[in-house]
Amino acid sequence: MIDKKMYEQLAYKPKNVYDCMTPEQRREMMDMCEEYRKFLDAGKTERECVKTAEKMANEHGFVPFDSVDSLKPGDKVYMINRKKNILLAVIGDGDITEGINIVGAHIDSPRLDLKQNPLYQSTEMALLKTHYYGGMKKYQWTALPLALHGVIYTKDGNQVEVCIGEKDDDPVFCVTDLLPHLAKTQMEKKLSEAIEGEALNILIGGMGINGSDIDDKVKLNILNILNIAYGIKEEDFISAELEVVPAFKARNVGLDNSFVGAYGQDDRVCAFTSLKSIFDIEAPHKTALCLLVDKEEIGSTGNTGMLSRFIDMAIAELIEKLTGKCDMLMFNRVIRNSACMSSDVSAAVDPNYIEVFEKQNSSYAGHGMALMKYTGSRGKSGASDASSEFVHEITTILNNDNVIWQTCELGKVDQGGGGTIAMYIANLNIDVIDCGVPVLSMHSPFEVTAKGDIYMAYKTYMAFYRDR
Ligand code: MN
Ligand code: MN
Repeated sequence: MIDKKMYEQLAYKPKNVYDCMTPEQRREMMDMCEEYRKFLDAGKTERECVKTAEKMANEHGFVPFDSVDSLKPGDKVYMINRKKNILLAVIGDGDITEGINIVGAHIDSPRLDLKQNPLYQSTEMALLKTHYYGGMKKYQWTALPLALHGVIYTKDGNQVEVCIGEKDDDPVFCVTDLLPHLAKTQMEKKLSEAIEGEALNILIGGMGINGSDIDDKVKLNILNILNIAYGIKEEDFISAELEVVPAFKARNVGLDNSFVGAYGQDDRVCAFTSLKSIFDIEAPHKTALCLLVDKEEIGSTGNTGMLSRFIDMAIAELIEKLTGKCDMLMFNRVIRNSACMSSDVSAAVDPNYIEVFEKQNSSYAGHGMALMKYTGSRGKSGASDASSEFVHEITTILNNDNVIWQTCELGKVDQGGGGTIAMYIANLNIDVIDCGVPVLSMHSPFEVTAKGDIYMAYKTYMAFYRDR
C-alpha cells in the first residue's frame, strides 16, 4: 500500500486528456473541432489557407500592418508575404526588448503539383503530369477522388483562381491504378517502388472535341473547355501553380466522434489552434505573434519558407512602428529575449505498428500536447535541441494552467526521424521547442487527430501567450 502511494507520488504518468476534462470543456472541444473542420475544407493549399486566415483575422479586429502608421499596446495587425505566408501580431503592454512570444506553424502539405507543361493525350484519354510535393507514400494517392486547386495567369495578366472537385456536383480527378489481376509484377516490387513518380498522372478527360479528326482531339477538347471557362491557353500552365489534393471533406471519425479525419492536418491543425489562440488572447504582456509559413515539407527553403528573411523583416518593422526606430542592437535584444513554440504535428503511436515506436518516449492520441525537446534523426542529427531551462519554463507554464501534455520523440532511435522549422528559428537566437498534435496516418490523404489533443494545443498556445 505504501509502495503504491509512493509510486503515485514519485513516478511520471502521462494523463489521458478525456479523464481530465469537464463536460463543459468537452462541449467546447467539440464546437472548436466543428470550426476546425470548416477551416480545413476552406484551405487545402497554402494560398487558400492564408486567405482563410486573413478573413478570420479581419473578423477578429486585426488590420493590415501597412494600414497603420504606429503601434501601441493592444493593437492587432497582420502581414502577408507573397500570398503564402501570414504573420499576425497582438501588441503587448511590456517593453518590446523583453522579447516576443511566437507560435510558428506551417500551412503547406504533401500533394501532387502539376508540372509546368502538364497536359497530354494517351490512349485517347487526356492526362496531367505531376511532380509530387513533400514526403509521401505514392501508392496512397492512386484510386482516390482528387480536386484541382491553384492559380493561373492569363496573357493579359488576369489571375484565374481554380478550385474544381470540392462541390458536390463538380467533377473530380484521379490517378488510376492497376487491377490486381494484372499486377503480378507490380505486387512483387517494394512498396516504395511499386508506384513510380512519373506514373502519378491525373485523368482529366476522355472525349474528343466534336467533329474533329486530329489525333489530339481529347487534349484539344480539354483545352477548349479550359479556354471557355477561364480564358486560358496551354502556355498559361507554365506560370501556373496548380495543386492536386484529396477531394473529400474533413470528417468526424469514430462512433463517439472523437477524432478528426482529413487531408492536410499536418500542419493546419497547429495553424488553426495557433490562430484561435491569438484571436482569443486579450492584452498580453509580451507581444504575441502567430507565424504561418510555407515550404516546410520540402525543407523550409525559398522566400515563403522559414528560411526566408520575412520573419526578421516583420519583427524589425513591428519594432519600428512601436518605438519609432529599430537599430541592429535593439533588434538583436528583442530576438534574444523572444521564445517560440515550433508547432508541428508528431507521430501518434499506431496500434497497428507499435513496433516502430519506443513506448515511453512516443506521443499517444488523446494524451495531450506533444512536446519534443529535439527532433532530427540518427544521433539527433539536424536537431534543434531545446535547453533544459526552456523546457522547464514551458512545462511549468503548462502545469500551472492545467494543460495536459506529453513528451515524445519521433519513433525509435535509427528508425527514421524528421525536422521542423524549429532549427531555423533557433538559428536566429530564439529559444524554441517543438510541440504539436499527435497524428495517425501522417502525410496520407486522410490524416487522423484526436479532438482532445486539438483542444489542448489551443490551451497550450493560450498559456504560452499569456504567461511566458
Ligand atoms: Mn509538419
Ligand atoms: Mn509533414
